[in-house]
Amino acid sequence: MNTKRIAILFSGGKDSTLSLLYVLKKYNQDLKEVDCLFFNYGQKNKDELFYAMSVIEKLAPGSPLNEEEVKITLHTFPVQCLFSTCNRTGLLSSTDKLEAGTKVNNLAQAFVPNRNLLFLTLGYNFCYYNDIDFLFTGSVPEAEGRGYPDNTSMFYTKVKDLLFDSSRKMIYLLSPFFNMSLEDLICFLVHGKEQDYKQHLYNLLVENTYSCHNGVRDSLPYGQGCGECGACKTREKDMNIIYKTLFG
Ligand SMILES: [Zn+2]
Repeated sequence: MNTKRIAILFSGGKDSTLSLLYVLKKYNQDLKEVDCLFFNYGQKNKDELFYAMSVIEKLAPGSPLNEEEVKITLHTFPVQCLFSTCNRTGLLSSTDKLEAGTKVNNLAQAFVPNRNLLFLTLGYNFCYYNDIDFLFTGSVPEAEGRGYPDNTSMFYTKVKDLLFDSSRKMIYLLSPFFNMSLEDLICFLVHGKEQDYKQHLYNLLVENTYSCHNGVRDSLPYGQGCGECGACKTREKDMNIIYKTLFG
């Protein structure tokens, strides 16, 4: 399997950025190029692309977090038309304010039907045509019942089989979060690195990544956001874990 070039579904959020850093560390022996695939699907959060670009800028070849000088390219896919029929979903609607824990019809308020399936299919095809064997995501597996049925281990197992059957080419769909805890991932990233890598990593996550479902950019101790939506609540919890893991 070729690990010279790897693709990632990339949103500019904390988790896909950690997945990108994982790929840079894990495959640093061979890796020459990473393709970050960003989907503009009409999300309420219009600043996602800005943050995605800022992460890639911070990870320029030779920078402290990319000393191996891997070439990282951001590809944007305008796919709003694929979601134009589901604009009543909270993540796409300009009127619904999203709050942590709120559900609609037993699904998370921010759930977008088949979004992951569409992104994975398009990413799979990108890999297919560019002869790439690995497609990473920043997906963090959700327990059944949390309202994101397309983000569970069972979903990924099924979609791997489905995409193989419909293409007859095996491309490995992976996320570091399916195999390790957030603490273990951070420890893996900093292992063997200089001390200042920790501060660069923390600053990158706070200043250059963004996850707020409501598209709010209020200044918070752990980055920018509304502080109330599920993404902001998760970000607060995770950044606390990351800080403790990095600095004790
Ligand atoms: Zn928020």
